[in-house]
Amino acid sequence: MSPALYSLPMRDSGFRKTLETALNSAMLYLNSLDRMPVASQVDRATLRRRLAKPLTESGVLPEAVVADLARDVEGAIIGSASGRFFGWVIGGSLPAALAADWLTSTWDQNAALYSCGPAAAVVEEVAGSWLKELIGLPTEASFAFVTGTQMAHFTCLAAARHAVLGRLGWDVEKKGLFGAPPIHVLSNGQRHGSVERAVRYLGVGESNIVNLATDSFNRVIPTALERALNEFASSPMIVILQAGDICTGAFDHFETLIPLSRKHGAWVHVDGAFGLWAGTSPKYRDLVRGVERADSWTTDGHKWLNVPFDSGYAFVADPRAHSESMSHRAAYLTHDEEARDQIDWNPEWSRRARGFATYAALRQLGRRGITDLVERCCEHTRTLVTRVSELPGVEVLSRPVLNQALVRFTSSKAEASEQDHDSKTDEVIAAVAATGEAFFTSTTWHGRRAMRVSVCNWSTSADDVDRAVMAFADVLNHSKRTRPEQASLAG
Ligand SMILES: *Cc1c(COP(=O)(O)O)cnc(C)c1O
Repeated sequence: MSPALYSLPMRDSGFRKTLETALNSAMLYLNSLDRMPVASQVDRATLRRRLAKPLTESGVLPEAVVADLARDVEGAIIGSASGRFFGWVIGGSLPAALAADWLTSTWDQNAALYSCGPAAAVVEEVAGSWLKELIGLPTEASFAFVTGTQMAHFTCLAAARHAVLGRLGWDVEKKGLFGAPPIHVLSNGQRHGSVERAVRYLGVGESNIVNLATDSFNRVIPTALERALNEFASSPMIVILQAGDICTGAFDHFETLIPLSRKHGAWVHVDGAFGLWAGTSPKYRDLVRGVERADSWTTDGHKWLNVPFDSGYAFVADPRAHSESMSHRAAYLTHDEEARDQIDWNPEWSRRARGFATYAALRQLGRRGITDLVERCCEHTRTLVTRVSELPGVEVLSRPVLNQALVRFTSSKAEASEQDHDSKTDEVIAAVAATGEAFFTSTTWHGRRAMRVSVCNWSTSADDVDRAVMAFADVLNHSKRTRPEQASLAG
């Protein structure tokens, strides 16, 4: 099919008005991000009143549906696409990735099989190789483009379950887990909750997770791992390590822990939802040294790579363990032996052709652009934390090693208690969000309330960091100064 085929004179397909309405809304939104309050401005009751319209018998014109939708959600779209959003671990969307994501919906390919979406299959093939090379994973590793790290864990741990039981002659795909030797999952005790959910989905059971002791930065203590590996040596073992703790950004010491685990016959899985991207930068690569010797890895596209949501990646060092746990053959499916059918690697059947957005993001940035993105976010994190720490009543609990940090705000009351500091911390976070200038989220860390700082948006600029610091200064100095240029989208 030549591109010329697309440029023949065409009758209007009837989509134009609706898509133009969407484009106009999108541009209005994107061009206002800089001025818009970054937190939601609308309460739940209002939102429900606006959206719970009567569902009509005869439907509504498509362009009216889109126009209503854009109007009704106004003020309740949290500014996570903005460079002033520092909550959780959330990236924005690169222009090329966003546009490719629109086209993905337009083309509406079912990316289960090559024969059902040839371009979608080849784009994943290409982007998968790029990702392995950029992050520094073995070139022979297999991969899957999934919805996020949650499903990437599921995919990788299905391969792990297959392999560790297979070594004992137990075919888990055929026999299931009833009567199987119990698997022990030796995990960083401060893991992300998506790990235990994957363990649950796979029928291994949360009570078979052994929490490994961690140091004050949430890194596995090597002797704790060694003890557990010896204690559970008679059962199949999966070790779960972290590249990037969501609070501290800290990395497990892969160079020590991975060879140790493998020596004991354990499968090593690494949660690198954002942290694996450290591998793309010469400045931060040391943090992931030795990670390539693991058996499986997960990371996200929708966080640091700034692909729209619905983008995570699973990588497995042993492609056989991976495909044997996922693949399926059926007479009515048209398998192409020469091609890569995604159904052999992915847990889904029908699925979105999500590789296009990743492919576009990688091409927009290029190698240097990816390294710059990672290094710039880390630099902004450091600047933000340093400047906020110079304000009165600020305690830095965890300095950034990458793009995450923890800060606590202390009460100036005489003989203030830990509870007073906890309350102060929550108050400051809420007050900063209320300024509309910046958005941060909180956690409880070693029993104390703390504010998390996370920078992973491609568009975060020095000016955004400035505005965030000024918001803290305003709040901490109780000044009533407001920024005149801060208008709502409606204004
Ligand atoms: C975000 C995150 C996850 C979960 O990833 P999803 O993409 O939300 O499924 C898992 N682990 C870590 C460390 C994370 O930051």
